[in-house]
Amino acid sequence: MEVLRHPSPILKSRAREVDIVDDTTLRDLVRLMAETMHAENGVGLAAPQVGVDKRVIVFDVDERLAALCNPVITEFSDETALDDEGCLSLPGVTVPVERSVRVVCTGRTIEGDEVTLEAEELLARVLQHEIDHLDGVIILDRCPPEVRKSAIKAYNQANDV
Ligand SMILES: [Zn+2]
Repeated sequence: MEVLRHPSPILKSRAREVDIVDDTTLRDLVRLMAETMHAENGVGLAAPQVGVDKRVIVFDVDERLAALCNPVITEFSDETALDDEGCLSLPGVTVPVERSVRVVCTGRTIEGDEVTLEAEELLARVLQHEIDHLDGVIILDRCPPEVRKSAIKAYNQANDV
């Protein structure tokens, strides 16, 4: 699967909820997304990044590969941290993004089972980043205007946009 790059319009729109039936389409999608993420050395990938309008994410953090359907963050810690983030849809760009250090995230597995994840540190950051993609939000929308401006300039130069 090919990872869509900024400024693809699908990266800007809100993805649709998935009906969780234990179907092979969803299984294939998740498998292909995981393969694509690994091939690009990413730690997370959201379905809209591969052009699929579904609220599905995959992530691989601390040797834990997982997929979540219709994920929702139900709790954000007040404590936040600023750290550099990159994105497979913005190759060559890293910008500092402020995120909650701990989050609670609910969703469903591809089998339809409800899950609740209590995440911190990198996993918390990855979940916030990937769920942002489902809402059409990218890291450039999360950084101050001056940072955004120079990041876009660098990106355009590097990617010949
Ligand atoms: Zn991303």
